[in-house]
Parts: sequence; C-alpha cells; structure tokens
Amino acid sequence: MVELDPVVGNTFIAEKGDPVPIDSTYWAGWETKGVYVCPRGIPVHRGEPDDCGWKCKEARAKMGYIYDKKLVARVLQVKTETVLDTRVCLVHPQ
Ligand SMILES: [Zn+2]
Repeated sequence: MVELDPVVGNTFIAEKGDPVPIDSTYWAGWETKGVYVCPRGIPVHRGEPDDCGWKCKEARAKMGYIYDKKLVARVLQVKTETVLDTRVCLVHPQ
C-alpha cells in the first residue's frame, strides 16, 4: 500500500506550443516491497531467486522463501488540464 503526502505543491508547467496550461501536483510517499533473501545468505542472490543454485534451492526447500522489507520511494504526478469552451463564454446578440 502506498501512502502519499503532498510535498512539492503545485507547479505550473506550460511549454511553448501548449494549447492550454497544464497544472501539475506532485505527491510523494513510500511503498514497502518484499525482497527475496537467499537462504544461504549469499548477497548477490538477494532479490534474484533465479540466481540461486541447487544448494540454495535445497536450503529453500527446508526453510521456505524468506523476504525482507524494503522501502521504495514513489512519486505521483497529477496533471490537470483546463480547457475553456468558448461556445459558453461568448455573448450571443439577440
Ligand atoms: Zn542463493
């Protein structure tokens, strides 16, 4: 599960040629992920269960899969595009 907090606030991004301004809000937070741990403690096998050889697989058959928790940073960008409908904005003479 990801819990996000607004940290950067609003940033106005308008590049040359953009038909309408785009407002972006950034949200940042942390996600907890499980990382595979080699049952024999071999560091290069961490996160890569397919790299374990037959000795590791024998140990894993006895101990089961072991996972460590790892925090991963996540950033979510929400873009808001405002488009004016000129048909509504124009005053029509009677
Ligand atoms: Zn291994």
